[in-house]
Amino acid sequence: MGDLTVDQMLASMLGGTSQTDEHEMARLDTQPVVSILPDANMLKIGGQSFIDRGRVAVFPLIEEIVANLPRHKMIIGTGAGTRARQAYSVGLDLGMPTGVLSVLGFFVAIQNAKMIHYLLAKHGIPSIEPAQFAQMPLYLAERQACVCVGMPPYSYWQPNPEVGRIPPNRTDTGCYLISEVLGAKSMIYIKDEEGLYTADPKKDPQARFIPKITVEEMEAMDLGDLVLERNVLQLMKTARNRRSVQVINGLVPGNLTRALNGEHVGTIITA
Ligand code: ADP
Ligand code: MG
Repeated sequence: MGDLTVDQMLASMLGGTSQTDEHEMARLDTQPVVSILPDANMLKIGGQSFIDRGRVAVFPLIEEIVANLPRHKMIIGTGAGTRARQAYSVGLDLGMPTGVLSVLGFFVAIQNAKMIHYLLAKHGIPSIEPAQFAQMPLYLAERQACVCVGMPPYSYWQPNPEVGRIPPNRTDTGCYLISEVLGAKSMIYIKDEEGLYTADPKKDPQARFIPKITVEEMEAMDLGDLVLERNVLQLMKTARNRRSVQVINGLVPGNLTRALNGEHVGTIITA
């Protein structure tokens, strides 16, 4: 079927088409999605796995980020980590619903964004909150990077998970969604393991490293524990731009640089 003109689309949408009519919705989706910031790399610095390790982990990474500023544009999102887990556990005990736990997690991820920002401040790197995202292109053009909170601002509107009450869309998901909507060049998760293993390598010494895998293969393996939030995998399946993500060990100097240069380091997951 050929592309619809704007007039034809409008006629179809005003013509009483139900927004749940899948065939009709698909028919309206004929134009390619624009890549808004195709040169920007989206990085997520892990909370629990990275920032919580303090200066031994964070300072060398900051140096590596600074060294890459002349060559690569970077949007740097932050995870939450142990303080969020503590807030969630007190919140759960006090009967807080998922939407409120989501608010708590947001503020912990903001704490980490603030600290990463102050470490990069002398290089002119700003930190922005979601309300300021429209300024991101200017900051990337002027300074090559900006820091933002990794937690998506769903707050009260965070859906309940299928099991338990912890917000299912946390900082892996928030950063992923930024990379998808902006059509970014990459989505690089900076954590403390080489990438995805067949099990959590911290608990299972027999766990095998998986350098490359598809979302479908991961689902077939039915891994009990993952290096990424499960929602990222779900979102990748319907992605328009970002159909692969990379997980690297940021504790190894040079890994981030290699990933930014497009090398296969760590695990690459594709949909
Ligand atoms: P973040 O700090 O970015 O939120 P998490 O701590 O949530 O990261 O997730 C990273 C951790 O996931 C790793 O430190 C690792 O111990 C654990 N993990 C669990 N399952 C796996 C797996 N199958 N492969 C690799 N790491 C895993
Ligand atoms: Mg996590």
